[in-house]
Formats: sequence, structure tokens, C-alpha cells
Amino acid sequence: MTDGRALAREFLEQQRVLGGSSVILGSVDAVPSAPDGRMGGSADGLVPPRSADPPIRPSADLPPAGVAFDPPAKDFFTADPLSQALDLAAVATLIAACEKCRLCEARSRTVPGEGAANARLMVIGEGPGRVEDETGRPFVGPAGELLTKILGAIELPREQVYICNIVKCRPPENRQPQYDEVAACIPFLYRQIELVKPAVILALGNTAAQSLLGTKQSLGALRNRVHRFRGTPVIVTYHPAALLRNPNWKRPTWDDVRIARRLLDG
Ligand code: URA
Repeated sequence: MTDGRALAREFLEQQRVLGGSSVILGSVDAVPSAPDGRMGGSADGLVPPRSADPPIRPSADLPPAGVAFDPPAKDFFTADPLSQALDLAAVATLIAACEKCRLCEARSRTVPGEGAANARLMVIGEGPGRVEDETGRPFVGPAGELLTKILGAIELPREQVYICNIVKCRPPENRQPQYDEVAACIPFLYRQIELVKPAVILALGNTAAQSLLGTKQSLGALRNRVHRFRGTPVIVTYHPAALLRNPNWKRPTWDDVRIARRLLDG
């Protein structure tokens, strides 16, 4: 059997000789790793995390690492107006004019997102519901009221957070957004994340978690892990609308948001 450590050492030495950046081998807990080994560090801690990943302080308090997802960065030479949108208002203007998918047909208003432009926590839901479509504001219906309470429980006034959705137009009858609708809309979210630069992202429900992390894993498998989106820690929990239907999920949700709080405090 080949000694993996010897191979890793040799690889790192080659990297050093070739002028690669220095590598710090942290504890296993501190190294994010994808289950399929695509990104993040390896489970044995020998392969370093991507250098862009800010370190998460190892802590017995934090759950293990999960998915690390790095969708390609934008093309700097593109004429795409989204990469040239320099602030959230400019992104919202582009969203208001968007007709890239069928969801534009029945919308009353687009719902780009709202909150602090420099928020440390970014909350991402699935898509606008009826009240959101009428007002143009995210999470203002019954699920939104519960979200505001959940944020309050971790001492985060809603105004200090940036709140948005995977899709910015209401799907008919509040159905789940379809794959092509998510694909058409998610570049807006990527740009919002680039602009806000949150310290932590909280993904609410299956659609938000799976679309953001590029995985089909279930919510049960995704929660209670610290994932990464382009290096930013992502915590996954139940959608407040699901909590309204099933109060048994309130307890695990509370556990999840406290993980987000600990990461913000860390
Ligand atoms: N549900 C969501 O996912 N987003 C909203 O804005 C409202 C309800």
C-alpha cells in the first residue's frame, strides 16, 4: 500500500519548489471537505483548504464540514451587465427588467432582496410568495414574520441582515421553482453575495440549500454541517414556512441558527 502521507508530503514539496503559496496543515475539524472530494480539504487534513477560504476556528461547538461549492467566477471580459452592476440597487434594476424565464409572466413585482448592504448574515429563501409578490419585499408574509422572530432569537434585528431568495419572481401557486428558472435567476444571487460579502450565509429550505451548494442532498443530510460557498460558511436549516406546518422542526432550526450565531461571533 502506498503511504498517502508520504505522497502528500512529496506533492506539497513540489508545490513549494514550483512557487505555490505556503500551506498550513490545520486540524481535521478546521478543514472543509466535500463528500465527493471535489473541493475543500481532504478528510485526513493533508490536503489544504482552498487558500481563499477564511479559516473557521476549530471548535468542539461546531458541526463537521460539508459541501464546498465554487461556481466559476465571472468572466472579467464579458459585457454582461450583471458583472458591471456595482451595487445592490443596480442588481435590483436588472432584476426588475429580467425576462429570462417564464416567472416574469405572472409577477406583479420582482423581489430582489432587502436589508443591510454590508450585512454579516445573508439569509436566502426559495422565492417570493403572494404577499412578497404584491409588496416587492422578501419574507413579509407569515413565514417572514416567523423568520423575523428566529433572527431576533439570535439577537439579529432584521434590518442588520440581508434577506433574499433564489428566484426573484413568484412561482405560480407558490410551486417550487423549476431547474431552468433557478439557472436563469441564480446569477443575480451570486452577484448579491459578491457585493454584500456576508460572513455567514443561512440557507432556508431544500431549494435554497441545494441550489446554492450545487447538490441534491436532502435537507436532513445538509443541516448540522458547515458548508462553503466560494469560501463563505453556509448553514442550512428548515424553511420557516415548513416550520409553520411542522413545529417539531423548530428545535433543530434553533440549533442551526445558533451555529450561524457562533460563526458570526467567532
Ligand atoms: N418564502 C420564501 O422562500 N421567500 C420569501 O420571500 C417568502 C416566503
